[in-house]
Amino acid sequence: MPATQSISAGPTGRVVVVTGAARGIGRAIAERFVADGDRVATIYRGGDLPKGVEAYVADVTDSAAVDAAFAAIEKDMGPVEVLVANAGVTKDQLLMRMSDEEFESVLDVNLTGTFRCVRRASKGMIRARKGRIVLIGSIVGLSGGPGQVNYSSSKAALVGMARSITRELGTRGITANVVAPGYVETDMTAALSEDVRKGYLKTIPAGRFASTDEIAAVVSFVASDAAGYVSGAVIPVDGGLGMGH
Ligand code: NDP
Repeated sequence: MPATQSISAGPTGRVVVVTGAARGIGRAIAERFVADGDRVATIYRGGDLPKGVEAYVADVTDSAAVDAAFAAIEKDMGPVEVLVANAGVTKDQLLMRMSDEEFESVLDVNLTGTFRCVRRASKGMIRARKGRIVLIGSIVGLSGGPGQVNYSSSKAALVGMARSITRELGTRGITANVVAPGYVETDMTAALSEDVRKGYLKTIPAGRFASTDEIAAVVSFVASDAAGYVSGAVIPVDGGLGMGH
């Protein structure tokens, strides 16, 4: 029989870790879990946090700092039941001009940084025989993007990561999924020129970018008890842009 232990929720419920909750999508996700009644911690580099979110400073490119942050969270708050690996960066450049540093530094945050967090979080989840791992991917990981060989590669790799975790830890009551946003109103997309933005809008069936709350709502579901049989999935939240990929 598969493990079906419940993931508790509510005011005295789960400990949720969201990486990079000071702004953008991570902030909205953390706010959503607080509203859901969870106890929320963030592993972040600094900045102002939403009310009710506990701060643990670490850069996800630093394994020792990530491990220390998880140890502190477990000591202060208890075992981590939900991890949302959200921290991510872009460094767009045309392939011919992309330096090793531009490629590797994006992979180091988006892919290896996610790996560092998932590896550490999984220890407690395996012990508890329950857990939810949600990786924030991107439509660009599936459809590609010009100037985004580094970013797209990093996000595509998260699909393999979630599916391998699913195969490795599926019998332990742990799920791992990728939530793949399309274009979302954040600092990352505010950097787009007006022409590029208009071009994207023409291609999105919904005719608009997503709000960060719309991404957070899907993450909340994937992390819930109700989603216990959803694992190894890529869940697009893109206004129809990828047509389910
Ligand atoms: P933002 O640039 O607004 O926020 C990125 C977050 O990641 C910040 O909190 C940032 O922290 C954190 N971060 C970056 N590098 C590190 C690091 N080395 N260690 C710890 N934290 C770090 O981006 P979004 O909110 O838009 O993006 C969030 C996630 O969603 C990313 O994974 C992104 O790829 C993905 N995404 C975004 C889309 C969009 O349209 N915006 C579309 C599809 C996916 P700090 O404040 O310290 O810089």
